[in-house]
Amino acid sequence: MTPADVAPEYIRGLPPYVPGKPSSEVRREQGVDSITKLASNENPLGASPKAIAAVSAVMQGMAIYPDPTGYDLKMALCNRYGVQPEQIVLGNGSSELLDLCARAFLVNGSEAVYSQYSFIAYPVAVKCVGATGVSVPAMDYGHDLDRMAAAITERTRLVFVANPNNPTGTLLTEAQIRGFMTQVPQHVLVILDEAYTEYLPPEKRMDSMALQHEFPNMVVLRTFSKAYGLAGVRVGFAVAHPSVADLLNRTRLVFNVNALAQAAAVAALGDDEFVARTYETNRAGQQQLTAAFERMGLPYVPSYANFVLVDFSGANLPAGEINKQLLSRGIIVRPVAPYGLAQHLRMTVGLPEENDILISALEEILKK
Ligand SMILES: *Cc1c(COP(=O)(O)O)cnc(C)c1O
Repeated sequence: MTPADVAPEYIRGLPPYVPGKPSSEVRREQGVDSITKLASNENPLGASPKAIAAVSAVMQGMAIYPDPTGYDLKMALCNRYGVQPEQIVLGNGSSELLDLCARAFLVNGSEAVYSQYSFIAYPVAVKCVGATGVSVPAMDYGHDLDRMAAAITERTRLVFVANPNNPTGTLLTEAQIRGFMTQVPQHVLVILDEAYTEYLPPEKRMDSMALQHEFPNMVVLRTFSKAYGLAGVRVGFAVAHPSVADLLNRTRLVFNVNALAQAAAVAALGDDEFVARTYETNRAGQQQLTAAFERMGLPYVPSYANFVLVDFSGANLPAGEINKQLLSRGIIVRPVAPYGLAQHLRMTVGLPEENDILISALEEILKK
């Protein structure tokens, strides 16, 4: 008998997370020098120069523990979003906040509802605490909110909604979310995960903070990993009712967001020019990619984020083989078989030249 043999069954049953392959690994395995990584929805422009400068400035102080309350970042967020500091929880990326929600609100025996083809971190967070995940069949690759509302039972404590959704890129409207919230019992916490919200065109944006204020059983999650380009330093935040935020703050580790991340986030939040450039680069890149997919006769899911989910079920090769051939050319995209989408690949929108590399490779591979 080993410690691993007596770990809780729900822990031993966890599926291993398959992250996007790091460039170094592909370089080593494929023996190629030049890598095009379009696998993890990172910002192809890098990070805001203001964030980089801010991190350089605080690096000298890395012997000192970070501010456990994240005062400066919370103040910056309050100014930006018109919320109160008591409503904010800072996280080591918003994926930590998903985890904190599961730890604070679920026990073995309770249930959490999420959609098929939604973010894979949801079932993992739920299973880690021994609770039961209820996956509701998707509608047109997105959330079927009526079915999700109907899946809520007296054991339900959490509902996860990703908007835009990863890995499909679908979007729910404010009216749909509002309609859903009116169907959810007031003691069930709805997690509105808006990791890609900065990529929405202005006419599709919604005032989620006002929505959160209207529905105290909603928590809004945002991240600095995507449009702000800070995936490597790990920082995200939650906006919730103070009573919910208080519980989440009690479950987190005191120093969960490091000093470099806090400084980077404050600076990035103030760099509107960088976020605007990111938005424009993505919009143009989306058009470049989808025009090419249409030329090649490849169906794709119209996306509101910085990636596109492409359907290869009608292609001459299985998606797994196409992925292999892309890797052999040093191009990393994301297989989504763990999501139950074995014949799709998710492709992050890159710089124009990166998108061209991907398009040419696909044209070559699909012609054979
Ligand atoms: C990327 C992503 C996140 C956040 O990731 P962090 O780097 O942990 O902030 C959260 N939700 C979804 C749907 C994502 O795609």
